[in-house]
Amino acid sequence: MNQCPLCKRQHTPEAANILLEKNGTHLVHITCPFCQNAVLAVIVVTSMGLGSVGMVTDLQANDVLKLRNSDAISEDELLNFYTLLKNKQVKF
Ligand SMILES: [Zn+2]
Repeated sequence: MNQCPLCKRQHTPEAANILLEKNGTHLVHITCPFCQNAVLAVIVVTSMGLGSVGMVTDLQANDVLKLRNSDAISEDELLNFYTLLKNKQVKF
């Protein structure tokens, strides 16, 4: 989760921006300080442990925040997003 999927370098926790936090589900935006690529990730904490999926995105953290403010993301949407990412099998 703290490794850039593109350049494979470790980034600091400060690179991560938690956009949304709901019932153990986190929507996180990460901008890699090395290659400047942005990744949108969903981290889910369940009784089974920690699950995380992510995708490379063109969206900046501010854009995601705008989306979030314009229409609140529901828990279902967040889980749908998580499932979508999971199906794409993008892993950190
Ligand atoms: Zn990178």
